[in-house]
Amino acid sequence: MAPPVRPRFRAERRAVPEAELVLAGRAWVGGRLQPLEIGFDGDGWICAVGRAVPGARRHDVGDRVLLPAATDMHVHLREPGPSESGETIATGTVGAALGGVGLVGEMPNTEPPTSTVDRLDEKEGRVRGRAAVDVLLYAAPADVRSLRSLGRRAGGFKLYLSPTTGIDTVPTGPELASLLDGLAAVDLPVAVHAEEPARFRPASTAVDPATWDDARPAAAEAAAVARVLGAPERLRLHVAHVTTAAIARGIGERGLSFEATAHHLLLASSAGGDARWKVNPPLRTEGERAALWAEFRAGRVPVLASDHAPHSPASKALPFDRAPSGVPGVETTVPLLLARVAAGELPLPVLLQSACDRPARLLGQPVGRLSVGHRANVLVVDFRSRSRVRGDRLRSPCGWSPFEGAPAVFPAEHWRGGERIVDAGEYIGRPTGAVVRPEYAPGAVRGDPGSE
Ligand SMILES: [Zn+2]
Repeated sequence: MAPPVRPRFRAERRAVPEAELVLAGRAWVGGRLQPLEIGFDGDGWICAVGRAVPGARRHDVGDRVLLPAATDMHVHLREPGPSESGETIATGTVGAALGGVGLVGEMPNTEPPTSTVDRLDEKEGRVRGRAAVDVLLYAAPADVRSLRSLGRRAGGFKLYLSPTTGIDTVPTGPELASLLDGLAAVDLPVAVHAEEPARFRPASTAVDPATWDDARPAAAEAAAVARVLGAPERLRLHVAHVTTAAIARGIGERGLSFEATAHHLLLASSAGGDARWKVNPPLRTEGERAALWAEFRAGRVPVLASDHAPHSPASKALPFDRAPSGVPGVETTVPLLLARVAAGELPLPVLLQSACDRPARLLGQPVGRLSVGHRANVLVVDFRSRSRVRGDRLRSPCGWSPFEGAPAVFPAEHWRGGERIVDAGEYIGRPTGAVVRPEYAPGAVRGDPGSE
């Protein structure tokens, strides 16, 4: 079984008399923005929060705001693999840094898939010395027997209920049941891609995003979700990319975790006519999108994630049924939602809980809050500094975005472990990102009384 997870919050440390560095501004602490100072110790942890924190160095951000850096539980950085988009762990994590994300959960459906300990080792080697932010590696269990050894090394598991890039076979029936039992015993977060292939129509029937929605309907998603809702209580289940309000409510009523992506929240199947808007599960109708947004806005979607999955413009220009599914998003998810906050369309606490606090707790990481004992991963945001998404200006080598022209508020600064890695919206960091694993077992993620 996996080794027991122990909290590594540094809350028990004695108050440090003087911080190495103090950030002063309007900080998100205790569920509101207030003029405060955040002290960092020399090891990259928050050691003091108060009205006046003594420190060796001071950085006053004026009336800009200090927010915790985000955690994106769902990205595909395309390594190892042919990566026709040109994306790598190096480029994708710089995009994350620029988009305000300090920790990414990297999915295992690479080529080859991350389904053995040797492949996890190999992927860890690719992160070390090359990643701009921290990376949690998911493993794809090949079978029940592999769970024990993988569970000692992986940061989480990803379970595919439909075939996807790099994953051809999916568990069904008794095989799925025993896999879920085995995963419950390993005690790591388990993200599920829930679509039921038996409910799909042939891909050849789809010629645009609207007919793609018909080919992989919400009913396929609902059927797959129903198969995992009865999973053992102990299973730390998290349903990826939920696309409709009805499915979201069904999962929420069971007290389970799930995520919505920026593209399912902000884009309907009418957003564009070609394969750049082809994604799995598909973009839904404007009515479904608006209903999901209402759930999110009301704080009933636990986690925001990007499902960053870049493809080259050339592969997206293939005939619709042959073009690959997936859109880039790790650099734009938080900025797009910050712009909604700036426009008065989204409460800031809803964004911070879903993008920072809850995903960190699900993954057992001491990040996502500006409080003592957490990593000094902090964003400086100026809500007046609005821009627009431009695909050719994003770090991802794919060079395009499904959100082209949409309003965005990119963080002005990003501090990671007490070191500034983004300044004036430019990446200035070093590739010191680490491979992380859950450090503590979360309590109930929904309704967590400790949530800010
Ligand atoms: Zn994905």
